[in-house]
Parts: sequence; structure tokens; C-alpha cells
Amino acid sequence: MKFCRFRVGLVEKDGVLVDGKVREIEGSIFDDYVITDRIHDEDGLEFLPPILPSKFTCIARNYVAHAKELGNDVPEIPMIFLKPSTAVNAHGGEIIIPTESEQVDYEGELAIVIGKKCRKVKKADAESVIFGYTCLNDMTARDLQKIDTKFTRAKSYDSFAPIGPYIETDFDWKTARTKTIKNGEVVQDGTTDLMIFDIPTIIEYMSGIMTLLPGDIIATGTPAGVGRVDAGDIIEVEIEGIGRLTNKVVDDKE
Ligand code: MG
Repeated sequence: MKFCRFRVGLVEKDGVLVDGKVREIEGSIFDDYVITDRIHDEDGLEFLPPILPSKFTCIARNYVAHAKELGNDVPEIPMIFLKPSTAVNAHGGEIIIPTESEQVDYEGELAIVIGKKCRKVKKADAESVIFGYTCLNDMTARDLQKIDTKFTRAKSYDSFAPIGPYIETDFDWKTARTKTIKNGEVVQDGTTDLMIFDIPTIIEYMSGIMTLLPGDIIATGTPAGVGRVDAGDIIEVEIEGIGRLTNKVVDDKE
């Protein structure tokens, strides 16, 4: 199932993609819901982030070639950080370049959406706590990350976490391929078999640190090929089987 959220007028709706059309649903995607006969075309739909996570957790440097392209060592244990939930952005939303950064980079990633409250999950049980997967662009103010050495400022600006357009619940992460497309040109193309820490390992590690709640996100890291964006660029993250997340980059006008 491909779940999404969208806006009709002032009203926010949940939906599911059926035969190429978005059908409104009533109820909770994590519990009971009913698929209604209220149907919308995908084209022209105002998408919202498919989920509003209580926390947005991330794995850094989970692909060898990406760690090396930025001159970093390959981590021996998963390296984690957080993005604030206020950074979440939608398919079709604008990515805003902060005035204090001279280099904002894209990072196309596969993101896990947690389906149930859990802690201390063993690798063998990891699949049972996953609701689905979505596309993420882990936008990063690279120059500020280098100045601070800590990730928080560089990763936390409003609009720096576009996700969507859909959460796919029927998805085989083992064969997932993540592409990033900048102005029509493929700039990242990585498969999950290149991950240093696979998804069961990530779930075990993260849930061993903090209780995970339904809707929480774990970003699984970006493949090689990260690079900067500028105002006017169209940046897209495409994962076969999930969809294509499209965003336009703009300068901060404030
Ligand atoms: Mg990242």
C-alpha cells in the first residue's frame, strides 16, 4: 500500500494510491481505516509530508564511498544524529537556503517509518516494527557542518527534511535503489547492498538507545555523489517502488 497525506482546501486528508488515483481514507493508517470513494488525481494534488514524526533519527556515513568522498573515516558502529520534526517538508515543498550558508547539499536517502512502539528490538524482529519506507532528502548546510563539527545546525533548518510523496508498506529494502536527480541529471545512484549497517542492524541499534514510536523516521544514510544546490534547482529523490520526491530550491527571502 502507498499511503500519503494531502490538503483539499483547508482540510488535511490521509489517502492511499489505488489504480493510479489517490483515495481518501478515514481512520488511522497505523490501526483501523476505511478506504472511501472520494478520489483525487495525483497531478495537481497538494501533498503534505506523509507522516509527522515525533522524532526524526538519522544514520550518518552508512556508505563507504560517501564517507570517503567527504574525507571521513568509515564508522565502526552506527553514527547517529537527529533532525528536528520542524524540518520536515513535503513533496512539492520549497527547500529554503539559509542566508548564513554558502553550501547546501542534497543527500538522497531511503527512510524507514516505524509502525509500533518498541524498544530493544532484536535484528530478527526488526521487520515486525517497520510500517513502511519513504524517500528522503537529508538537506545539509555542509559549510556549517564543517565549522560546527556537530551536525545539529547544519541538518536542522526549516524545510531541510523533505519526505514522501508516499509511504510504501510493501517494499523489499534488500533490493532498494536510491537515485538523486538534479535538474534532470542523475547525481546519486546507490543500492542498499552497499550499506555498512543494514536495516535490521539499524533498528536494533536505534531502539536500543531510545523508544521508537509509530511514525518515527530513521534515515538510512546517503550513497556517494552528494553535492550542492542553488536557488532555482529542482532536486528529486527517486526510489523504485516508492516514488519520486520533488522539491524546488529557493533562497531565504526573510
Ligand atoms: Mg544523510
